Amino acid sequence: MKGWVVFMLQAQGMRLDVVPVTIARQNCSIFWEETTRTAVVIDPGGEVPHILEKIRQNDLKVEMILLTHGHFDHVGGAHDLREILSQKQREVVPVIGPAQADDFLLQGVEEQVKLFGAPDQNLKNVKVDRYLSGGEILEGAGRVFKVIIVTGHTPGHVAFFDEANKTLLAGDTLFAGTIGRTDFPYGNHDLLVREIKTKIFPLGDDIIVLPGHGRPTKIGIEKQSNPFLT
Ligand SMILES: [Zn+2]
Repeated sequence: MKGWVVFMLQAQGMRLDVVPVTIARQNCSIFWEETTRTAVVIDPGGEVPHILEKIRQNDLKVEMILLTHGHFDHVGGAHDLREILSQKQREVVPVIGPAQADDFLLQGVEEQVKLFGAPDQNLKNVKVDRYLSGGEILEGAGRVFKVIIVTGHTPGHVAFFDEANKTLLAGDTLFAGTIGRTDFPYGNHDLLVREIKTKIFPLGDDIIVLPGHGRPTKIGIEKQSNPFLT
């Protein structure tokens, strides 16, 4: 996600930083609340020193680390980030999500890194503190995130919906002009299309989608023009 987009969202009152991580340039999002300086980190796939620097710059206390799914570019930094933050903040910072069906990916991060030829950034397997099953309400950084299961890209993929701020953290489900890859042995194109249409589209046309890669979009725009969904 380019700097100007983040600036635009910030200008709308959203306290958000996006750190592109790993060779896949995955959007690691950091949301925070101005008054309390509490924060939530979503999909820290790598570049842990860079993420920590943003947290330090803004003087933030991280309340939780959320994961959308088990691919290395989304979760590879979660183990180290939890260790370092928990030590610094003197309490465990929980890693929450995705659904348990992605456990084989969470425990296979080091294998995925070899497979994708990603240069060693010390990305690690991660044991999460809590799996999600859809419908949970998570509170952090003054925000409320509703958990929505959206499978097809991976079997345990979740999205986080912040209704009050009209924002969906979509991971690798819906992108601007495209949808998530499904060419993995566990991927399912038809299922992903169906999941997007039945679980994401009904959230509302004016919802801002922050995807795992590339620029933000809105649900209404994708409903109208996304070639995979029209
Ligand atoms: Zn993915």
